[in-house]
Amino acid sequence: MQAMKVAVVGGGLGGLTTAALLARGGCEVTLYERSKHLGGRARTTEVAGFRFNLGPHALYRAGAALRVLERLGVKPTGGVPAQTGSHALVAGRLHTLPRGAVTLMTTDVLSLAGKLEVARVLAGLARIDTQTLGALSMREWLETRLTRKDSRALIAALIRVSTYCADLEVLSAGAALKQLQLAIAANVLYVDGGWSTLVDAVERVGREAGARLELSARVDAVVLQEGSERVEGVRLVGGAVRGADAVVLAGSPADVAALLPGDAVLAREAREAVPVQAATLELGLSALPRPEALFALGLDGPWYASVHSAAAKLAPGGGRWCTWRSTWVGRTRRRASRSWKP
Ligand SMILES: Cc1cc2nc3c(=O)[nH]c(=O)nc-3n(C[C@H](O)[C@H](O)[C@H](O)COP(=O)(O)OP(=O)(O)OC[C@H]3O[C@@H](n4cnc5c(N)ncnc54)[C@H](O)[C@@H]3O)c2cc1C
Repeated sequence: MQAMKVAVVGGGLGGLTTAALLARGGCEVTLYERSKHLGGRARTTEVAGFRFNLGPHALYRAGAALRVLERLGVKPTGGVPAQTGSHALVAGRLHTLPRGAVTLMTTDVLSLAGKLEVARVLAGLARIDTQTLGALSMREWLETRLTRKDSRALIAALIRVSTYCADLEVLSAGAALKQLQLAIAANVLYVDGGWSTLVDAVERVGREAGARLELSARVDAVVLQEGSERVEGVRLVGGAVRGADAVVLAGSPADVAALLPGDAVLAREAREAVPVQAATLELGLSALPRPEALFALGLDGPWYASVHSAAAKLAPGGGRWCTWRSTWVGRTRRRASRSWKP
């Protein structure tokens, strides 16, 4: 039997893992990436021995990405951020961040009633069936499930850091709480060497399985068979058409809609998707100004700071002195489970 020919458009981690899985499953796969490099947003830049991701990146240990990587035989190494050295940032001052029973009881960012409320919410978090929350926004959820301002501020900060979205009016409660469940169930992994190590590993698996990876190859349309919805292939910029039995589009909603201009559903998705905007500042330092302070989470605004090199190898000589700080002003109008799309 002839192998199915599949064109994958987009060489980020999404497209690359799809190409590798399909090639391993026996398909004849060609991946097209418009830039000169694979990796998309999972790229890592090296500056004076410091390895900077494109903004802070954490791999959710209970998330789908790690499961798929493991299916491909890719086992990321790195470290889980320590519980110690974590602070809540309020009005520019550092306080203890509640991360367990003891810190919850000792922190001064919550009143006693706030502590009891936070303890109740976190204890019941894993049992929340996020599928049943429908179109409820995160703001509505906070206002109906919590009575106190201080406990809402803390849970909202945890939601912001795990979803990267600060616009709780429009953030789906279901999507946000699902992400928080993942974060609390198994924490995250900061990856040694940065996320480009994942890209390199998946690229190797894909090539070994026979996937062809074409760089500087921008697809400008999906070609359908005359008078039908069946795929004929993809058209590259310049006009060449490459035949395919199926096409996987692994770009942003706008990228995808542009390739199938007649598709009303894709057009609506692209119109309604509002990207989250984040500003990040990444620092490589010879020493930390406060070596004991490794993480700070803003309770009164959408910002946080984290020393990734305390958990993962990201600094010269394997040292601990690489740090970054991130601020985000998220806004997304979608209530779908697309809190990262980023
Ligand atoms: C600041 C920041 C922080 C993040 N933090 C985290 C985190 O902590 N945890 C986490 O899980 N995720 C995080 N993410 C998201 C994560 O980086 C991505 O989800 C992941 O890299 C997979 O991306 P992707 O493959 O879906 O898309 P992308 O990486 O965007 O790749 C899409 C690719 O498609 C290519 N392309 C598009 N259109 C075409 C076309 N017509 N022809 C050819 N090529 C095309 C693009 O050039 C691009 O390379 C973060 C993202 C950012 C920006």
